[in-house]
Formats: sequence, C-alpha cells, structure tokens
Amino acid sequence: MHKILLVEDEPNIARFVELELTHEGYEVTKAEDGREGLKLAEGGGFDLMLLDIMLPGLNGLEVLRRLRKSSQLPVIMLTARDAVMDKVTGLDMGADDYITKPFSIEELLARIRTALRKQVKQETQQLTYGPLSMDVMRHLVMIDEDTVELTGREFSLLQTLLENQGIVLSRETLMDRVWGYDFVGETNLVDVYIRYLRAKIAEKTDRKLIQTVRGVGYVLREEEGA
Ligand code: CA
Repeated sequence: MHKILLVEDEPNIARFVELELTHEGYEVTKAEDGREGLKLAEGGGFDLMLLDIMLPGLNGLEVLRRLRKSSQLPVIMLTARDAVMDKVTGLDMGADDYITKPFSIEELLARIRTALRKQVKQETQQLTYGPLSMDVMRHLVMIDEDTVELTGREFSLLQTLLENQGIVLSRETLMDRVWGYDFVGETNLVDVYIRYLRAKIAEKTDRKLIQTVRGVGYVLREEEGA
C-alpha cells in the first residue's frame, strides 16, 4: 500500500482528500502546518507528498526547498494561485508536479499515479550518452568525471532526452513527458529549461549534445563534425 503524506491546513480540503485517497487504497498521514509536514517527510517512510503552498509555520515552497537537501520524495504541490511564478518556482525547487485548486479528485488521482510510476521507473535506471551519464536512482549526472548540479525539472528533461537519444522530441511531447501533462500555451518553458541545461553542460564540456531542430523540437545528438 502506498503511503501519502498530505500537508494541508484547510480542514475541509484535507478531510476530503484523505477520504478519497483512503477509498482508493492509499494510506494517508495528515499534517496541518509546514514544520510538522517537513518533520514527517524527513522521517521517511512515505511514497509521495501532497504539499499545499500557503501554509502556516513554513510555506510549502520553503518546506520543499529544505526537504530537497536530503530527500527525493516525489512531491505534488497544491496551489490556490494560478501564477506561473509559483509553478516555476516549485518545479525549479524540485517539485514533481503541481495541481491548482479547486481540483477534481480524478485529476489528483491521475497525477498521483503518474508521480508514483515515475518513481518506480527512476529506481532502476542508468543512462548514458557520449560524455554524459545519469544515475537516476541517486539523482546524479556526470560529464566525464565532473558532477553536474541540476534542478529536479532540468534532471527530468535531460532524462527524457537521454531515454530518447537520437529521436527528435517536440516541445509538446517534452511538456507532456517532463511536466506530466499539458501546460496550455506555455511550451516556451521547454526552451527556457533547454537553455539552462545547455549552459550547465557547456560548463563541463565543449561538445554540443542538445540540438535544436527548427520547427520541430529538440534532440540529444552530437553535431556533425563537433
Ligand atoms: Ca493553505
């Protein structure tokens, strides 16, 4: 049985989510404020955390920032606000996904299943391409002998490219695979994250590994003659 930590200070939402998840066969532990949630998450034993952003004690983004120093527990952020800034900040800090309130329970369950599936996949994989190597379980990326520090989202983007090396992926496909669903009209986020990745790779090697295919998308492939 999967164990889910629910950090949510609004009693009605917390009760509703707990009931529905329990009904679906998940084991739910609730926390009402950020500090308590962080302490429980750091204690381990959970498969996934649902984390509200607006929380007393510590806000959700701060909980996530602190948690990521020691844990790769999958986290889905719950946000009342639909601001792109909050989404980007949360994803940058290593959230796996987010869901905007009010949400339907079906949508939440779908996101939970996706996050848990990704986790299982991550536990078994080692990926390489040219000088790049990725240890998915240890969340480690190396170029030659150098470690490359990546945020959670950069890591998943690179992982998707590595899993599909030589195959051109459209922005929409990358949004779907990396962010898990459609961000309508926000596929430029992909360009932003590709830029971050390229800059970090360029610090470690002169080889150009990520190519832009104009009008199509991106591919992990070495440039001819490079
Ligand atoms: Ca709240």
